[in-house]
Amino acid sequence: MTIQLPSCRNSLRLFVRPSVGLFFGGLALLLVDGCRPAEEPLRVQWPTMGTFAAVQCVNHATAPQARDIAQSVFDDLSQELSVWSSASVLSAVNRAAGTPETFPISPRFETVLRFALSVSDESDGAFNPLIGPVMRVWGFNGAAPRSTSPSAAELSAAAALTDWRAVELVARTNGATLRLPTAGMSLDLGAIAKGYAVDLAWERLKAAGHTNLLVDLGGNLRAIGEAASGRKGWRTGVRNPFAAGELIGCFLMKDGEAVATSGNYERFVEIEGVRYAHIMDPRTGTPVTGMAGTTVIAPDAMTADALSTTLFILGPEKGLQLLAHHPGCEALWIPDTPPQLTLYATAGFAARLNLEKGPDKERAITLKIVGKPSAD
Ligand code: ADP
Ligand code: MG
Repeated sequence: MTIQLPSCRNSLRLFVRPSVGLFFGGLALLLVDGCRPAEEPLRVQWPTMGTFAAVQCVNHATAPQARDIAQSVFDDLSQELSVWSSASVLSAVNRAAGTPETFPISPRFETVLRFALSVSDESDGAFNPLIGPVMRVWGFNGAAPRSTSPSAAELSAAAALTDWRAVELVARTNGATLRLPTAGMSLDLGAIAKGYAVDLAWERLKAAGHTNLLVDLGGNLRAIGEAASGRKGWRTGVRNPFAAGELIGCFLMKDGEAVATSGNYERFVEIEGVRYAHIMDPRTGTPVTGMAGTTVIAPDAMTADALSTTLFILGPEKGLQLLAHHPGCEALWIPDTPPQLTLYATAGFAARLNLEKGPDKERAITLKIVGKPSAD
């Protein structure tokens, strides 16, 4: 059972109950539907890029081809953009940081990096593709696990290597070249590359004639068509970050739309008994605290991915200023205040969100609608 949220109210207290739903492989998204079609879309899942990918096809017979198309896009891109593969172009660029060597990069790599740098500018560096040294100092990205927190000196040494404006991305007639000017600088496109990969797979799938299908890469989703005739999209649930298996609510992803979620509850390190999540505030060199999750609906998956991470860092107030420059994007924030579930949502998100309502009156949800300022 879900209820439709009236968009005219700015604060609601509702109740959530344990929900049944088909886990949909994403960080915090569940595919749900109270009224299932006679035959559900077929979901095919496989591991890639350090996470899980999946395609969900209404026409079951098309699933093997859809999977092949998506998988080959994800495999190709990870050879260029993955921070995990030492054989990737990105890893070669990182290893050569501070040397005179420049690297030719593909138009795809250039597209992702230019968008990353533009979000860095817009967010005044909250989003930062040079976050690599900060990730490593906390024990992420393959660095040795830490037994103590990094010292102030370690944090400032890492932060000194994150000036994204220093990235030398040069457009040339025969393609762009890339160089990092200082030894120790390290690109990490983990907050944006999966979204781009989903867009590319979505385009290839559409070009190959696939009609009613959902692509998922680690919780970055993009829809084609609808989950069943007349459904007008794909119903997607937002997970409760404080209660595994429970939903906060669900909404309908429309044809062509993308959704991404960033959260503090799936990837983290534990140091001296304290959990630190994998999204960093580059201004302090420390993991962001105070936010449990953000979900963004956007016209494309690269934007959804980059913005969900950035809005996680910025929070609702500053995040709204950024959203003013991204038409068609809507956001939901879940602050890290368990057991209190207070949600902040743009009016457009709130109007589409069906909050779960159930008998468990202990779990009140407060939804606050936050207004988008105008772009100028
Ligand atoms: P996930 O990768 O789990 O889908 P996100 O899209 O939110 O989650 O991306 C988190 C990843 O982004 C981190 O693992 C790291 O690679 C990278 N990252 C962390 N902090 C920042 C930041 N401030 N700016 C850009 N990228 C970041
Ligand atoms: Mg992201």
